[in-house]
Amino acid sequence: MTTQEMKIAFEQAYGHKAEKIFFAPGRVNLIGEHTDYNGGSVFPCALSFGAWLLVAKNNDRVLRFRSMNMQEVYEIAIDAIAPQANRAWCNYALGCIDIIARRHPEAKLESGYDLLYYGNVPAGAGLSSSAAMEVVTARAFTEEMGVSYADDKKYRTELALIGQACEHEYAGVMCGIMDQFASAQGKKDHAIHLNCDTLEFEHVPVKLEGIKVVITNTHSPHHLDSGAYNDRVRQCHTAVEQISKVKPIKFLAELTEEDWKEVESAITDPIAKKRARHVVGEVARTSAAVEALKKGEIAYFGELMTASHVSLRDDYEVTGPELDALAEAAWQVEGVLGSRMTGGGFGGCTVSLVKDEAIEKFKAFVGAEYEKKTGLKADFYVAEIGDGVSRLE
Ligand code: ADP
Ligand code: MG
Repeated sequence: MTTQEMKIAFEQAYGHKAEKIFFAPGRVNLIGEHTDYNGGSVFPCALSFGAWLLVAKNNDRVLRFRSMNMQEVYEIAIDAIAPQANRAWCNYALGCIDIIARRHPEAKLESGYDLLYYGNVPAGAGLSSSAAMEVVTARAFTEEMGVSYADDKKYRTELALIGQACEHEYAGVMCGIMDQFASAQGKKDHAIHLNCDTLEFEHVPVKLEGIKVVITNTHSPHHLDSGAYNDRVRQCHTAVEQISKVKPIKFLAELTEEDWKEVESAITDPIAKKRARHVVGEVARTSAAVEALKKGEIAYFGELMTASHVSLRDDYEVTGPELDALAEAAWQVEGVLGSRMTGGGFGGCTVSLVKDEAIEKFKAFVGAEYEKKTGLKADFYVAEIGDGVSRLE
């Protein structure tokens, strides 16, 4: 799909031309899983997949929502913006417009708008099509509503916060900040080392000579549902409470692996102990992985990715048979430096570092093993690390 084709679709849908086009990417997290809500760091990068948004003003004081990916069409009066029932897809956009108005007293929605979305992030694969949609909407409507920032980094962080608030309030998902942040602050050929507590971050070049980041989609119907997610959040809180009797902490991510040896016996709940052990280990692995990448120690980076998967499988228990089948097959392929689940877990994707010459073998072997074990067909994408949100035209 080219932007030219999107413009034609816009004109066919609305009978007039689009005035502007925006793009925001999906993301893949290289390492640092389930650390974000524990005050830890994450290491995602923006992809070249994402969401496009074409907009033009209308004279009708309504917001018209269409998506080239969806059947449903919505029309909402600009004076009646509120969450829509039945998991309406327009919530991911409408919420951003509402939140811009609430966070920025100077913001004014002066007219109605016609909107057309197109997305090419594989659906429900944990590569954050929702964040792409939110961030592209936040980018477009901050501009349309007259919100501006002198500092581009601060502007992008604000776009991420608008998107996250939308996801909480309009989609009912109490997500961390990683997805929207990566979509807003992405940089071509760089990953983002983000502290999810302070929102301090650094762009780290991803220089992988002769190696590619390969994303493999389980196409599994399983998801980390909000129940299982909230259980993990609660178990981590239990661990914090019990540890705080011997060493007061706010977040598990404050603990080093040395600290862990001293405090682990304070956790009496065995499940909470496993969850906490994952978080402490994952925080250490994420820092080590960032250092390894900076030094060009890609083999070590890969080992840390694999160790991350093992910990998510055994201690955090969020992998499931499909993600395990993919990772375990990948580890057997010569030329694979590391492989792990990425995103919340249970379904979604793995991310692997694969030498160029091994990619075809990787696809053939992992694809066949996966189908043998699960009866499902996997899909493979060689990731291109792209820029964050922007206005294209
Ligand atoms: P993901 O892991 O891809 O973010 P989510 O379940 O969080 O999965 O978000 C997917 C939802 O986001 C879709 O069900 C739909 O409501 C909305 N969405 C994402 N991309 C688009 C799009 N291009 N057009 C319309 N809605 C979209
Ligand atoms: Mg999402």
